[in-house]
Amino acid sequence: MSRVLVIGAGGVGSVAVHKMAMDAAVFSHITLASRRIEKCEAVAASVRQRTGVTIATAEVDADDVRATTALIAAVQPRVVVNLALPYQDLSIMEACLEAGASYLDTANYEPRDQAKFEYGWQWAFHERFEAAGLMALLGCGFDPGVTSVFTGHIRKHLLDRIDRLDILDCNGGDNGLPFATNFNPEINIREVTAPSRHWEDGAWVEGPALGRKQVFDFEQVGPRNIYLMYHEELESLVRYYPEIKRIRFWMTFGDSYLKHLEVLGNVGLTRIEPIMFEGRQIVPLQFLKALLPEPSSLGAVTRGKTNIGVIASGEKNGEPKTFYVRNICDHEAAYAETGSQAVSYTTGVPAMIGAALMLSGRWHGAGVFNMEQLDPDPFMDRLNQRGLPWQVQELASPLDF
Ligand code: NDP
Repeated sequence: MSRVLVIGAGGVGSVAVHKMAMDAAVFSHITLASRRIEKCEAVAASVRQRTGVTIATAEVDADDVRATTALIAAVQPRVVVNLALPYQDLSIMEACLEAGASYLDTANYEPRDQAKFEYGWQWAFHERFEAAGLMALLGCGFDPGVTSVFTGHIRKHLLDRIDRLDILDCNGGDNGLPFATNFNPEINIREVTAPSRHWEDGAWVEGPALGRKQVFDFEQVGPRNIYLMYHEELESLVRYYPEIKRIRFWMTFGDSYLKHLEVLGNVGLTRIEPIMFEGRQIVPLQFLKALLPEPSSLGAVTRGKTNIGVIASGEKNGEPKTFYVRNICDHEAAYAETGSQAVSYTTGVPAMIGAALMLSGRWHGAGVFNMEQLDPDPFMDRLNQRGLPWQVQELASPLDF
């Protein structure tokens, strides 16, 4: 029996459970838990309507290790899929160890009071998961997640050595709103306003947030401004592919998004230090989040495509070569299938695939793992079969910027 517990009933959690329900041979019992039961019930109703499958629901505060342990003990899942927020990663990992379940997430731990994310806190769990004979798989979304699997595919099948790697993340979707984030606004804004950082010749190179811009012509989207950013898979790629001399991450942003972000930053609304307001402590960024649309509400109004991929330059049989591996995902098609837009879809589908590979034993091990450590082949096959087909293109030359 393949029991799974998904925690977090936002856009990503909703896609993951819809896709799990469509794969009943692998996921025989699905439970969705989140902070508010009504969100779980709304997702369960949609799953029933779209797939005919009934999933169980539960309410849990995943910051509370005891409550989460009790839930895991009651549900008895083999894998807990954490699609809540990065703040809950450590408490859910603790609960998995207490109750004896394996673990998967899509975003690395970040403390609430510091806009800083890194794998160190979660890698520190390795010996305990290993001793318990359990597996924890980190960063199994699109980026991080599929981008590392694409890199593994290139290294295994296309290049003998990778010298340079660029990850290009384009959301060509338009929701018609002047300012809305396509995943959790608090996490999104913390990520975007952090200094840029990339890996070059054995060291991290830092720069100001959104300080470096290029134009890139994305297939089925068109030319877009891309900005150099720090992103969490850079840390694991540097660790597991020490041969790569330069690794960079680029993301598209529209001018309206950046204009709003600048103004919100200037007036202090993106700050994470608490302030006193009418006798009460509030965090400006959390207040801003409460004003912004929920990402899960954007599905119905988003048109266009995402195009996310990696460009790797290196050597094959002594010849210099460059390959581009990417997926293009349509917002409206994602919405028609699961009721969520493509940013949630491109994260929820890989989380479902990772969980399926763990449940079937295709991906196994005791300890804490990143995507780069596992065989890319079964994951790449399932991307094609489960709604995120990819293409490989050989480029005539490396990126010229
Ligand atoms: P949402 O904010 O839409 O969903 C998060 C869900 O978690 C909400 O239902 C929320 O409850 C619930 N939650 C929050 N805190 C708790 C808690 N203490 N206990 C239980 N449930 C809680 O975010 P998304 O669905 O957009 O994103 C989910 C995760 O996916 C995030 O960690 C995000 O960083 C990650 N992500 C990863 C990507 C990748 O490619 N790797 C890309 C996009 C997202 P409530 O509704 O009550 O607020």
